[in-house]
Amino acid sequence: MRPRPPRRDYWNEPTLGWWERAYIFEVVRGLLTTSRVFWRNMGRWVRGRKGALTSYYPEERRADYGRRNRGKHVLTQRPDGRPQCIACNLCATVCPARCIEIEAGLDLEDTAHPKYPEAFAIDYARCIFCGFCVEACPEDAIRMVPDIPDLPGNDRHDMWLHKEHLMTWNPQRDVAKPYPPKGGSGP
Ligand code: SF4
Ligand code: SF4
Repeated sequence: MRPRPPRRDYWNEPTLGWWERAYIFEVVRGLLTTSRVFWRNMGRWVRGRKGALTSYYPEERRADYGRRNRGKHVLTQRPDGRPQCIACNLCATVCPARCIEIEAGLDLEDTAHPKYPEAFAIDYARCIFCGFCVEACPEDAIRMVPDIPDLPGNDRHDMWLHKEHLMTWNPQRDVAKPYPPKGGSGP
C-alpha cells in the first residue's frame, strides 16, 4: 500500500471544540437544517409553489435574480449591425473553462477592421460565468447582461450559443453603458 501524502496546513484551519469533535451532534444539527428547509419548501409547493426555492429550469424562470446577476453573454454591434468583435481570440485565450470557439474571417474591404468572427460560440455547459472574457476584450465587443440565456438544449453537447443568438441583444437597452459610445452615430 502506498503511503499517504502528508496533510497540508491550511491558513484557515478550523479549530474544533469538544462539541464538534463529538461529531454526532453536528450531524444531527445538519440533518435538522436540511429537514427544516425541505419541509418548508414542501409546504410552499403543496400550496401552489409560492415562495418555493427551487424552480424547474428551463421551463420556469426565477423572478428574483440579483440585480448584479450577469448570466448571459452578448456580442455588441457596430452601427451598421456587424459585430464589434475583431476575432483577436483574447477572450478564448483567457477563458479558464476553454469554452469559447472563434473562427476568424477576413474582409479586406474593411480596412479598419479586416478581421471579423465568421463563427463565435460559447459552450454554456462549461462556462462558469467568471466574466474574464468581458474583462479581456480590447474592443468592448463581448458583455454579460443581467439575464439568463435561452439554452439551446437539455443535452450537454447542445449547449453552444452561436453568433446569431449572441447578437440578438438590443445594445441600446444597457443604460449603464450606452452604446454606441459617446460621439458615435446610433444604429
Ligand atoms: S464567463 Fe468565464 S468561463 Fe464563461 S466564457 Fe467568459 S471567460 Fe469563459
Ligand atoms: S470578443 Fe473581444 S476578446 Fe473576444 S475575439 Fe472578439 S474582440 Fe477579441
